[in-house]
Amino acid sequence: MIRYSGYLMPTTKETPSDAEVVSHRLMLRAGLIRKVASGIYNYLPAGLRVLRKVEGIIREEMDRAGAQEVLMPSVIPAELWKESGRWDAYGKELLRFRDRADREFCLGPTHEEVITDLVRREVRSYRQLPLNLYQIQDKFRDEIRPRFGLMRGREFFMKDAYSFDADEEGAAGSYQKMYDAYSRIFRRMGLAFRAVEADTGPIGGKSSHEFMVIADSGEDAIVSCGACEYSANVEKAECGPEGSVPAATPAPGPPRKVPTPGKRTIGEVSAFLGIAPGLFFKTLLFETDKGDVAVVLSGKHEVNEVKVKNRLGADWVKLAGEERVREITGAPSGYAGPVGLSARVLADHSVRGIASGATGANEKDAHLVDVVPGRDFLPESYADLRLVEEGDRCPRCSGPIRFSRGIEVGHVFRLGTKYSVALSATYLDAFGKEQPIVMGCYGIGVGRTAAAAIEQHHDDDGIVWPISIAPFEACVLPVNTKNDGLVKEAERVGEELSARGIEVLFDDRDERAGIKFKDADLVGIPLRVTFGEKNYEAGCAEIRDRKTGRTDRVEISEVVARVCTAAQEKKKECAP
Ligand code: ATP
Ligand code: MG
Repeated sequence: MIRYSGYLMPTTKETPSDAEVVSHRLMLRAGLIRKVASGIYNYLPAGLRVLRKVEGIIREEMDRAGAQEVLMPSVIPAELWKESGRWDAYGKELLRFRDRADREFCLGPTHEEVITDLVRREVRSYRQLPLNLYQIQDKFRDEIRPRFGLMRGREFFMKDAYSFDADEEGAAGSYQKMYDAYSRIFRRMGLAFRAVEADTGPIGGKSSHEFMVIADSGEDAIVSCGACEYSANVEKAECGPEGSVPAATPAPGPPRKVPTPGKRTIGEVSAFLGIAPGLFFKTLLFETDKGDVAVVLSGKHEVNEVKVKNRLGADWVKLAGEERVREITGAPSGYAGPVGLSARVLADHSVRGIASGATGANEKDAHLVDVVPGRDFLPESYADLRLVEEGDRCPRCSGPIRFSRGIEVGHVFRLGTKYSVALSATYLDAFGKEQPIVMGCYGIGVGRTAAAAIEQHHDDDGIVWPISIAPFEACVLPVNTKNDGLVKEAERVGEELSARGIEVLFDDRDERAGIKFKDADLVGIPLRVTFGEKNYEAGCAEIRDRKTGRTDRVEISEVVARVCTAAQEKKKECAP
């Protein structure tokens, strides 16, 4: 049992001005964290209790799934990152520095290099595989925009796990085990979440899922099917081929050039010519490491750059600026079109849905009409290159697609042999042949998960913790600390609850009752036992449920049993 009087949990009434989201505000107000520098925090005792609980659940489930806990250093020699090629590729999020001997180091933002180095030294034979190693450790990422408190910090705790298998089949099994463990972890924390298919980038190509806690304040847009289990983040979400291919109407004559003075956007040209946006061949020019590329899609859709990048197998793509557009098309931007264009042309499936349409003439103040795809321009390929939209159908079952927002709390990723090949982490198979180890990596943000839990579980009075990650399970609150008999009885009940395994905060502060109630609510302790004067004289106390507000007056002799039962009930809500 912890006594509030000597406990550092400095609650505040004022809403901190720089806190934009509710979890950040409430973590500050409840005295759980304090800022040291941008994205860098002190964890106060109650805040640390929450993080330790989150870690505890993660640890139990990782162990259950057969992973082994290790601990790697934060400080990593540059050589390892140079070996993987990420020293140059990672950019400014990687905090680099030199030691006194002028050797280069970085603070680990993730640990693929370190773990692969460990494993390549220790694993020789297929008999030592599979292996899954994890740690819960302090990460540093020099985020460009640290914000939302623990949600996007620079220094933060992460559980990162890495699996090592002999082949792809084994790796798929390890991935599934982690996927299942993650589902249990987030259920045990009482969170509503979805595992969404995520983009793996050109090197991945294998599976990746992000575990998203559903919350309006989430930074990620996700789509999910109203009918089946399909969900994906917006970057990844597939769009099937356009519903109906237009009936074969008689092909119009050759493209005609029409003047469109000063009209550049689809909206402007569409209104000016009286042609629906869906009948435009919208043409976007990209500069990429694979050369210039034009992407053509129906004017009613938006391009998805990630899909373009993956389709090309490119490392980077970016929309061409005004200058470059002029060089490629000979016209200012707003007049690009695929007809007679020298650049490579990729078409979205939606282009097939347009029998004949309008597009830019690659000439200032002019567009073409009566353009027929396949006749007047020939795309190198048709592919899914657009963003999913409201009204789209599920690519799996044609059910209705819904949009929502989520907070990415976890990520599972099949790495393949990217790091094992780069760092020569190999093993000898049963025939004595050297093979690269097949890897997977799996992360959970500890602080971000706690913050996400608050985003999902709070009300006007404060946090409403799911009991499994609450800093305390019950608060025992004597209303008048001057009444010795009352305080003694409350204390006895508190001790007895502790002895029964309930984590108790005993609010022995010499404060007004109203302040104590407000603090218990703000901090979000699931159960509160109040010893008021009148009830005490009558041999009673009150048990209040933070979530429902339900208050029961019970005889003091029954309090312990009732609180234990109520806590049990709440734990059931956090069943795996
Ligand atoms: P994001 O897209 O939000 O930056 P990420 O893709 O960089 O996340 P991963 O590299 O997959 O994240 O890291 C694994 C987990 O670590 C994430 O799912 C998230 O829970 C957590 N995490 C990542 N960056 C931060 C951060 N800046 N602050 C707190 N937690 C973080
Ligand atoms: Mg990131």
